[in-house]
Amino acid sequence: MQREKILIVDDSEMNRSILTDMLGEEYEILEAEDGVQALARLQEERNISLVLLDMVMPRMDGFKVLEYMNQTGRIQEVPVIMISAESGSQQVAKAYDMGVSDFIPRPFDALIVRRRVVNTLLLYAKQKRLSAMVEEQIYETERRSSMMIEVLSRVVEFRNGESGMHVLNVRLVTELLLRALTQRTDRYNLSSADIARISIGSALHDIGKIVIDEKLLNKPGKLTPEEFEIMKTHALQGAEILDAIPIYRSDPLIRTAYEICRWHHERYDGRGYPDGLQGDAIPISAQVVSMADVYDALISKRAYKEPIPHETAVAMIADGQCGAFNPLLLQCLTENSEQMRRELAEGTARSVTRREIRNIVDESIYTYHGGASDRTLRLLDYERTKYNFFSAMTHEIQFEYTFAPPMLNLAAWGAEMLGIDEITMDPARDRKIRSVLGVENWNMLRNKIKQTTPETPMCSYECLLTYGGKTRWHEVHLRSIWSEDVPPKLESVLGKAIDIHDTREKMEELEERAARDPMTGLLNRSAAQEKIVERLKDRTEDGGALALIDLDFFKVANDNHGHEFGDEVLKEVARRLRHSVRGTDIVCRAGGDEFMLFLECELEVESCARRIFRSLCGPFHDFEISATIGIAPVKGDNRTYESLFRTADAALYAAKREGRRRYRVYDESMDDVLATKNDN
Ligand code: GH3
Ligand code: MG
Repeated sequence: MQREKILIVDDSEMNRSILTDMLGEEYEILEAEDGVQALARLQEERNISLVLLDMVMPRMDGFKVLEYMNQTGRIQEVPVIMISAESGSQQVAKAYDMGVSDFIPRPFDALIVRRRVVNTLLLYAKQKRLSAMVEEQIYETERRSSMMIEVLSRVVEFRNGESGMHVLNVRLVTELLLRALTQRTDRYNLSSADIARISIGSALHDIGKIVIDEKLLNKPGKLTPEEFEIMKTHALQGAEILDAIPIYRSDPLIRTAYEICRWHHERYDGRGYPDGLQGDAIPISAQVVSMADVYDALISKRAYKEPIPHETAVAMIADGQCGAFNPLLLQCLTENSEQMRRELAEGTARSVTRREIRNIVDESIYTYHGGASDRTLRLLDYERTKYNFFSAMTHEIQFEYTFAPPMLNLAAWGAEMLGIDEITMDPARDRKIRSVLGVENWNMLRNKIKQTTPETPMCSYECLLTYGGKTRWHEVHLRSIWSEDVPPKLESVLGKAIDIHDTREKMEELEERAARDPMTGLLNRSAAQEKIVERLKDRTEDGGALALIDLDFFKVANDNHGHEFGDEVLKEVARRLRHSVRGTDIVCRAGGDEFMLFLECELEVESCARRIFRSLCGPFHDFEISATIGIAPVKGDNRTYESLFRTADAALYAAKREGRRRYRVYDESMDDVLATKNDN
């Protein structure tokens, strides 16, 4: 099936490309960079289904394009949706007046764009079918009635001895004058339908002459005053004939014909007949037909006169020699005189055209809708404003992520903070999104979304986001939205990221403080235990060791130099320990003068222990720091914290027993030593 064609007119290539992305799959896209190109495309392509039109463009703007489309009638064949960053402005109102059917605000929201495009196309398709149907019906009835009217008026003409052209000429001049009049003023509020009706009705202006004696009608030379009085009755007689058919009395065409018959011999100055109406008390239909009638009488050959040339006829009427007329109509006559002459000469007199009928049909259809999209537009704008307002107030990054088409839509505040556009098409492949969010965050988001289901659509997690030069913790809340298909499809995800930096930081600080020994700054025993358990969890191979260290004769330091000095010794020991192990090792003050290490040494436990022992022992002020170390390597079955602690303690105890200031690696013989210690 052939795809419908959409013409996108926008000077920004970016905008054209966004719209093409949104619509390119379903429609064939034509592009134009400005009004000039747009007009060229419209001329060469007859079957464009829709135009998306930017208003502000270089060279030729959107309004000029609309003007052209109005002049050529294309606006009634091709719907136009206006693109603009501002809504509700005078510009939008003007564009609606010029026939645009809808409005798409920028930045583009894929949903809005697609819905409005589809709606407009549907509406137009429906309207086109409807118009074609109505047009056909009206065309047929109009054609028939116009045919009957012509037959009837020819009968009258025939009796009058007129050429047969009179009715056609009056009609042509009437139509021409009416069109000129609507361009000059809207005082008479004439629609295309009114003009068509008056033109058709003009054919009946002399219908009353059917009852006038043929001899009188065809009398050569001047009528006597009595004869003239009889002749004058044709106006009222014609009106009465039309009024005598009750079922047609209220028909608009018959009403118009009635006015024309009755008052086409009235004069603008009030000195006409039969009612002596003055000025605009005379219906405009009758005023115009009166002028057309006088004009055609002048230029035609009659039983009593020779034809007068066009220019002379116009000059005579303008001069007031042939009655008094509405000054506006006189202007229309003189200003359009040349066109009138040409059209009459070409014999463009015709029966009602398709174009006239389409005007009538369109008028009734187009005037009726248009309010609806305005309202929808306001509602959508309201929603958007609301969304942006709340996000700005709460300082939350709010977003919507849709899948078909793939699009990330951010509320204004978040977009500004992150420095990305409010709308990003195909965000998964967008470099900017990746660099701003970071690949990790992006993948995290995708994974979390994947984990949601229609039953459990909500999900939360924490992540680090960097913006404004700061990296901060955020709590992300997601809600997925599913289609009603079976199985349901993921349609979109709503989300927001809340800055929890402060709360998170405080918590971490507290946690950190709780894990440390306040005096030495080393990990405390329980925190170290937790970490060691974690390290041992997935370890299957040998390697690593737990070391327990106890200072020798530490009581002496306290006793000889005071408790404060004792504290300084403990801090010094912590410093020496920290320097003698690797960054990955765990160093902890287990309590009192006891320290615990978890060493990530490979198999060389001995040399590790030696290195630590050597760096630990040595003078500190007047005191000789000395330590005993018991070591339990992670080896064989000995790989839980509990057993490592127990065996390291056994080694320590054995080493103390051997005379202190030494290190010992655990072996099974030490279990016996420990047993005796426990027995004591
Ligand atoms: P040994 O060689 O057998 O280990 O003898 P020791 O003197 O080191 O004795 P032990 O390890 O049994 O005793 C540790 C002493 O450390 C007991 C206590 O008075 C002292 N101590 C414990 N915690 C602190 C502390 O935070 N500061 C100070 N200054 N002394 C402490
Ligand atoms: Mg000790």
